[in-house]
Amino acid sequence: MNCEEATKLMDGYLDRELDPVTNQAIEQHLRGCHDCEQAYKIHGSLIGAIGNATPYYKAPAGLHERIQLSLRAEIGQRPVTNGLRDRAQVLRKKPRNVLLEMPWNWLALAAAIILAAILASNLVPRLQRPGAEEFLATQLIASHVRSLMANHLTDVLSSDQHTVKPWLDARLDFAPPVVDLSPQGFPLVGGRLDYLDNRPVAALVYQRRKHFINLFVWRGETEGDKTTQPISRQGYQLVHWRDSDFNYWAVSDVNEKDLQEFKQLFEEHVASR
Ligand SMILES: [Zn+2]
Repeated sequence: MNCEEATKLMDGYLDRELDPVTNQAIEQHLRGCHDCEQAYKIHGSLIGAIGNATPYYKAPAGLHERIQLSLRAEIGQRPVTNGLRDRAQVLRKKPRNVLLEMPWNWLALAAAIILAAILASNLVPRLQRPGAEEFLATQLIASHVRSLMANHLTDVLSSDQHTVKPWLDARLDFAPPVVDLSPQGFPLVGGRLDYLDNRPVAALVYQRRKHFINLFVWRGETEGDKTTQPISRQGYQLVHWRDSDFNYWAVSDVNEKDLQEFKQLFEEHVASR
């Protein structure tokens, strides 16, 4: 196994989703490869940190009991009409419909469990659920860190947008915008191919004083908010925005103000082309 394969399998390894043979191969690689081992540790600690920071909500004591009791009362009170009984018998004759063949008290219990699950999930505020965006943020930070640590910041090293853009265009099935922001204090360093969220993405690398900004670009989805709240985690800032064609995620250890300025400049330059 080489570093590229190990990197691709890292998420699966961390989530313990790999088969034993692949598991062993990646473990063997991690023992012998300092870079990948470091990436693994960082990624693992990020996942741990997110897990620890996410609040868990328990349904209040007795909720399950109360739902069951009220359902039992409801079912007990309702007289079984002839029509209902006939229909139940007709339905029971249909083969292979396990649900309909279940006794009523089992159906009530199933309903109670489903209802309890719905109630419990609604008690958890939406934003605090570890969702797809949280997961993506973890991947983005890991990718940013990896690019700096594994000495693989760029595939094409150039401050010239007319060099970086065709290089990326030739290797992706989309043409990400590349703009020069050196007069504004964000010189372009180069570009790189990366792999995020199960797709190849463009990574544009910009510099701010001694810090690097990885700007990940891929073809955008049309649903959801245009911009989301900036994320700050473990000393890294993440800013997300979209235009009609692309999804952008800027990741860096610069301060939030600088990263917002970068976003604004990038958007203005793309819009004015
Ligand atoms: Zn490696």
